Amino acid sequence: MKIPTRLYLSEDEIPASWYNLRAFMKDKPEPMLHPGTLQPVTAGDLSPVFCDEPIKQELDDASPFIAIPEDLQVFYRAYRPAPLIRAYFLEKELGTPAEIYYKFEGTNTSGSHKLNSAAAQAFYAKAQGLNSLTTETGAGQWGSAMAMACAYYKLSLTVYMVKISAEQKPYRKALIETYGANLVSSPSPTTDAGRKILAEDPNTNGSLGCAISEAVEAAVKTKDCRYVLGSVMNHVLLHQSIVGVEAKAALDKYDVKPDIVVGCAGGGSNLGGLIAPFMGDRIAGKNAIRFIAVEPASCPSFTRGRFAYDFGDTAKTTPLVKMYTLGSGFMPSPNHAGGLRYHGMNPTLSKLYHDGYLEARAEAQTDVFDAATRFAKVEGVLPAPESSHAIKAAIDEALECKRTGDKKVILFGLTGTGYFDMSAYMAYNAKTMTDYIPTDADLDKGFASLPDIPQNR
Ligand SMILES: *Cc1c(COP(=O)(O)O)cnc(C)c1O
Repeated sequence: MKIPTRLYLSEDEIPASWYNLRAFMKDKPEPMLHPGTLQPVTAGDLSPVFCDEPIKQELDDASPFIAIPEDLQVFYRAYRPAPLIRAYFLEKELGTPAEIYYKFEGTNTSGSHKLNSAAAQAFYAKAQGLNSLTTETGAGQWGSAMAMACAYYKLSLTVYMVKISAEQKPYRKALIETYGANLVSSPSPTTDAGRKILAEDPNTNGSLGCAISEAVEAAVKTKDCRYVLGSVMNHVLLHQSIVGVEAKAALDKYDVKPDIVVGCAGGGSNLGGLIAPFMGDRIAGKNAIRFIAVEPASCPSFTRGRFAYDFGDTAKTTPLVKMYTLGSGFMPSPNHAGGLRYHGMNPTLSKLYHDGYLEARAEAQTDVFDAATRFAKVEGVLPAPESSHAIKAAIDEALECKRTGDKKVILFGLTGTGYFDMSAYMAYNAKTMTDYIPTDADLDKGFASLPDIPQNR
């Protein structure tokens, strides 16, 4: 069968349920622990911070499929199904016998897959009768997505944006404010967590971990307000499974069976969502797909991190999560262009990596931009720097096929567009972009911040 450039799905084929990958795992991820009691957290522990339904989803490792609320399906129809594209031009450019496909999540105005979970979380907040939400944003995509979702569901939103990103990405900031959100540069003097960090280092660039501390504190102290997070958590992966379920439905239509599935990995949400249904089948012995996580060499949680219980934030206020981590005290390099700068990694993906179901590799920034521009020139789409980590690995795998003559099928997640990342592209074009790779001594500083609890000894 001739495969079209766009593997078409109709609006009626948008999935009606999410795929809860944990339900398909024989060995489940370790439970989140309460940092005081070191006992598994309960819904009651989480309810001051998170919305009720996402908490249920977070703690649910048994229900294989979870229905997407009808009203949310209506919102999804505004920008889904997301295109699944056969990269014919890239294949030709590389001269590879491999087939390359990408699932493109950058067609909505926020520009990335993050809107899938933002809309879900805003929907549940509204359904619960809340008035407002707080969140943090690093590179700005999550803040943009939440701002769009909160505008649609008529909720007020405060976004703590990592200071360096707010400075480097003024248009992201403007976009977030245009959709009506209140934007605070983090660390800020408006919270205890922010004031403490500023007192220690007034010139700090900020970090995601620090912005999370501020957003959580503000949510807990505000009436009818909760905190929402755009990555790392299992409920976010659940919402992102719509990416994988759609991709699999479109491939199944044309009887295409991937051999390799690649995704970039920051906190793990797009990767976890993309691989979910394929990984479920792999665990059941129905396929032999290789799954590859691609992270930046500047923030190598999988490839150089420890599998340990750690806090999700710098102020050490969140529950403890068993994950691959560089330590909540790890301060990522400010000269790294994209997102993907979080110290930890989703616990489900961490478990799969630990158990050998998932591979990981780390790529240097300039190599990633080489891949990004090579892709853009032939496929037309200007990729986000984060997404370009996946492009780099997909190209490398396709070139390996060229060397061996294998006709493998490669699927990768193209998570977003690079329209708001032009300053990074400018640095790349001007050849002023640098590759920062932390030394072992740099990493040791982060590891020293890991909690000293029996589970970690
Ligand atoms: C946030 C983001 C990522 C990384 O986050 P994950 O949770 O690891 O998916 C990747 N690509 C884009 C475009 C993003 O906005």
